[in-house]
Amino acid sequence: MTLKLQIPPLNLQSNSKKTSVHDTLDRQLHDLRLSVIDRCNFRCNYCMPQGSNPSRYSFLHEKEWLTLKEIVRLSTLFAQLGVSKLRISGGEPLLRPNLAELIHQLSLIDGIEDLALTTNGSLLSQQADSLKKAGLNRITVSLDTLDPQLFKRINGHKGTVEQVLKGIEEAVRVNFDCVKINVVVQKGINDHHILDLVEYFKGKKPILRFIEFMDAGNCNNWKAQDVLPASEIVKIIHAYYPIEPLKPNYWGEVASRYKFMDGSGEVGFISSVTQPFCRSCTRARLSTDGKIYACLFSPHCTDLRKLLREGHSDEALLNLILKVWQSRDDRYSELRPQIRASHVQSAKIEMFQIGG
Ligand code: SAM
Ligand code: SF4
Ligand code: SF4
Repeated sequence: MTLKLQIPPLNLQSNSKKTSVHDTLDRQLHDLRLSVIDRCNFRCNYCMPQGSNPSRYSFLHEKEWLTLKEIVRLSTLFAQLGVSKLRISGGEPLLRPNLAELIHQLSLIDGIEDLALTTNGSLLSQQADSLKKAGLNRITVSLDTLDPQLFKRINGHKGTVEQVLKGIEEAVRVNFDCVKINVVVQKGINDHHILDLVEYFKGKKPILRFIEFMDAGNCNNWKAQDVLPASEIVKIIHAYYPIEPLKPNYWGEVASRYKFMDGSGEVGFISSVTQPFCRSCTRARLSTDGKIYACLFSPHCTDLRKLLREGHSDEALLNLILKVWQSRDDRYSELRPQIRASHVQSAKIEMFQIGG
């Protein structure tokens, strides 16, 4: 296959500082989520429920993973197209061998201004220091409850709250620019633990972010009635700890930010189900085996690893990435009600394959 880089291709705008590539809804390619491993040491009921694997999905063989060199090469190309933020995710990214080395190499890419990672925190106390020294700027740790029994029930009896809190403490100690805590709220499961989490983290460095339970993948048995709307979570918190909205830090920020009115910090809400933010979604996603996805819920992908391993040039790869982004029209969360009602939904990528 011969692919020629179209210079300047349709919608590719360039000034002396930065290239920008826009999709069909005029959303600029700005962020890249990298899934560096599809395996995980947890089995969260909303992501990879116990028993759902490997019957529906076989974990990738190591040979199928993009190598560190391939990840760095593709990230460099994405940076040339205007990506300045990288988020490393998984599966559980701290299980990926030589992760600190990868982070170091990614931090050296021209144009990458922000390097973040999302982890379940179970191995963080051992790795936080080396990740920080390697050049990681920000870290997000997932923690859905402080209750040890419930925590185990949610994650398939694989880890402990104690390990995760130790990881968070270490992340604070090594002084990441920002430490966030992701809480997926499932109605009737952990919604009565929201205030405990607020009480624990209020006034401390980590910023809590409550996330609506999403219909990611095909195996979490999602039902609309299991979603506690972010507006309800705001009310629950506000009744005990008054909060008020803050301006976004930047256009397209995923979380709506609120500050505690007593000055003890802030809290965020990610309302992908009840208040979709597709119109400002500037994120491309790369799976562990090098497939690019234009949306977290997309059944479609484009294989970049094939081109890499067939020895194609950077131009050919750039051209393919451009083609994917410039033809992007995804807005699943906006269309969710119609898509689900139609019962013709194609199988989606799983969250652990694509990294949240
Ligand atoms: N294993 C790491 C972790 O759990 O933080 C990184 C990968 S995980 C797929 C990334 C994020 O997606 C986590 O914060 C997790 O809680 C969130 N997540 C997974 N499934 C979800 C779902 N169905 N709805 C909302 N958030 C989800
Ligand atoms: Fe693993 Fe993260 Fe998925 Fe939980 S949410 S099963 S920790 S990948
Ligand atoms: Fe972006 Fe797709 Fe999520 Fe909409 S549904 S915000 S397009 S990832």
